[in-house]
Amino acid sequence: MPAADAPPVAPDQQQPARVLTFEAGDHHNVDLLGGKGAGLVRMTAAGLPVPPGFIITTEVCRERQREGRLPSDLLDEIARYMRVLEGRTGRGFGHGPAPLLVSVRSGAPVSMPGMMETILNLGLNAQTAEALARETGDPLFSATVFVRFMRMYGEIVLGATGEAVDRAAAPLLATLRDRPDAVSMRALSDACQAALREDCGDEVPADAFEQVAGAIGAVFDSWNSRRAITYRNFHGIAHDLGTAVVVQAMVFGNLGTPSGTGVAFSRDPLSGEPTLFGEFLEGGQGEDVVAGTLTPQKIAQAAARFPELFAEFEGVARRLEELYRDVVDIEFTVERGKLFILQVRSAKRTAQAALRIAADFLTEMRLSEADALRSVTLAQVRQVGRPGFEPAAVARAKSEGRLLGSGIGASPGQVSGRVALDPDRAEAAAKGSNGAGSIILVRPTTSPHDLHGMIAARGILTSLGGATSHAAVVARALNKACVVGCDRLTIDAEKRRFRLDQTWFDEGDEISIDGATGELFAGALPVVPGGASTPQIEALLAVADRLARCRIFARVATTAQIATALACGATGVAIRLGDVLTTSGKLGEFIDAALAQREGSSAVVQMAQTLADLLAPLLAASGHADFALRAVDLATGEATELLRTVDLFAREPRLALPLGVPELIEVQVRAMALAIERAGYGGSAQFIVRHINDPSEMRELRRIASAASGSGRAAIAAGATMTSVHGALLASEIGRHADVLWLEARSLIANAHGYPSTLMLTADPLDDYLRRGLLSADPRTTLDESMTRLFLSVAGAAVSNPECRIGIRLSGQLSEQMVATLFRSGFRSFIVDPDEVRVARVALGREAAAMNPANG
Ligand code: ADP
Ligand code: MG
Repeated sequence: MPAADAPPVAPDQQQPARVLTFEAGDHHNVDLLGGKGAGLVRMTAAGLPVPPGFIITTEVCRERQREGRLPSDLLDEIARYMRVLEGRTGRGFGHGPAPLLVSVRSGAPVSMPGMMETILNLGLNAQTAEALARETGDPLFSATVFVRFMRMYGEIVLGATGEAVDRAAAPLLATLRDRPDAVSMRALSDACQAALREDCGDEVPADAFEQVAGAIGAVFDSWNSRRAITYRNFHGIAHDLGTAVVVQAMVFGNLGTPSGTGVAFSRDPLSGEPTLFGEFLEGGQGEDVVAGTLTPQKIAQAAARFPELFAEFEGVARRLEELYRDVVDIEFTVERGKLFILQVRSAKRTAQAALRIAADFLTEMRLSEADALRSVTLAQVRQVGRPGFEPAAVARAKSEGRLLGSGIGASPGQVSGRVALDPDRAEAAAKGSNGAGSIILVRPTTSPHDLHGMIAARGILTSLGGATSHAAVVARALNKACVVGCDRLTIDAEKRRFRLDQTWFDEGDEISIDGATGELFAGALPVVPGGASTPQIEALLAVADRLARCRIFARVATTAQIATALACGATGVAIRLGDVLTTSGKLGEFIDAALAQREGSSAVVQMAQTLADLLAPLLAASGHADFALRAVDLATGEATELLRTVDLFAREPRLALPLGVPELIEVQVRAMALAIERAGYGGSAQFIVRHINDPSEMRELRRIASAASGSGRAAIAAGATMTSVHGALLASEIGRHADVLWLEARSLIANAHGYPSTLMLTADPLDDYLRRGLLSADPRTTLDESMTRLFLSVAGAAVSNPECRIGIRLSGQLSEQMVATLFRSGFRSFIVDPDEVRVARVALGREAAAMNPANG
């Protein structure tokens, strides 16, 4: 063994260090120190009260995995570090009069809560326990600490059951409680060792260094425990990261008063409110708070009892927030009035809290605007405002085998409800008082006859059809969760039941559907309500708006959706007249009029009144927000599916082209002008037609539109939505005749790839393709180089023609990469789904902040 006073050897520059004191580590090096170790290093450097210790790095874990055993000279090295620890604490490891006890703690580079082991109070045997009893004058304390160590070591290192030691020690501890001198530590040790021998055929070594070697080996072993491996597989964590081991001088929350142990968050992780949140257990040690055997008090109560102590703790929490520039989760212990911090990490929080915290950190100037916007994820922004399943409940349902399969996720939303197999019963059940409300309409397919049932239901599930089926299109227009094309679903309408693979369900049974992933679950899943917005969240969003200066239109179809979208901060609404007709059941009438037009009937002219009636309330609800109306598009597959008619174009081939029947365009513009008058709408209105390809086509569209809008108050801007590469490349020329142009990202990308655009809506074939490496980027979420070039050239056209605004329609959940690329390319107008308005504001704001370093 080396000389007691030899300093730790400086680590070789080439070789990652095997052992480092808290003082010597670099907290940035989380991969080497593990998260727990890095935190202790950082707090030590900041001068916070951390019990001294050292870290055996992940390098040793990897070495052990490679070689199958601990490096031969490691124990010598540890002995050297233990001497340092003895010097720092003035105590002796493995001997009296003041024995040094340590904890041996696991700590991987990524958090794996509860997966690995920690042993407390290591360094005790009969003699040192006796010494500790003498030193503290508290034999019961020493005995309790000793027994806890024997139990933990027995369980974790020797593989004994936890009860063996507890059962043997319980009567002796009970005796000690009444008569502190009645039981010797030797007797206690003998009883525990005998119980261990009987339970697992082994006992705890008396030698403290043997103990530490055993404990380190066991912590490393726990990296490869079955549950740890399963956890890593599930979370996609690499198996070769390894864990570090922290060896740290013990402090005692169960010694004297005021003492105790606690866990606290620097802010409320549920609401984000800036108050300490957590629990303190007087007289407790280590995991007693979590074990739940004793009842801890809330931090606020504890603070009332020990104001000075908790004022100090409050100060430490603030300091840690400054260091981490984040809300933190702190483990601490108080020993006879002295505070020690044992662990810190960024706190897990709800989406609601994340936004509140980002806003508060901004006001408190702990974060810059850019960092505050970056500190929330788009998923968190998305979650605020939209209810969704509890993530833990989803994981549980999957592990319990309640995932029934999946279809095509056609319209996002996570809902549970009782099944109705028929639209009338769906409507009745939704209104019914018994368990009122949440209904999932399950049909083979839907048609316009199902509309009332679809409106009544929370979610829609069909066995047939694809992403542009009637069910899918209407669900998206109505903003309801929808899964289609679930081919394992068989419905027996007569017996009022349905089957998913082998499982039968009766009408009225509860199921849950996820309209984004297409997953189906048996039974209801608990839903986290989408929290309402708060002044803090609004303030954060306002910062994003100020930086990004974008127009954000929400795609909506009803007055209720308009109200919601405007409340979410949309500056405009985008309405597809086709959706309005579909959801009001009037699409058929419109088509009939279009077809009759050929015979010279005046049905089209009369149609203007009908359309105006539908549009006026929508315009009124929009107030002064921009209002974009997209003409009915009969040329797409959607229309044919909606109407279940294939002979539409056979009867009137001109309907296949945007301006094929000019009278149809006229009537829609006239209706819009009428509705604007009637609603007294005061904002800026635009009428847009899809699939425009040619400058002269646009010129004609503008001519028709300005003739039809008449001379009233309505100044209707005319524009086009471009879905083709041809149109996009001619944007500059087309733009000369347009007030506004929109690019439909999804269709354009699909067309550019030569894919049907329905392919972009489903997970499967493309996911599989990506897994097989047959596509280098996912066209649904990534603008690769060629697509970026296409969009850039359109953005260039916008710059060359400031008279014409060019915007982008982004469908579904926004992709961060796409939003960033488009914003950087120069686009400032976007149409997004109504649930994505806030997400878009944050995504654009943070891109703007990133582009301007002055904000960082
Ligand atoms: P986990 O990773 O499961 O949280 P820890 O290593 O943090 O395990 O330790 C478990 C418990 O023991 C925690 O409450 C921690 O605060 C406490 N603990 C660990 N080391 C010490 C120590 N040196 N002194 C006092 N308590 C400790
Ligand atoms: Mg911990």
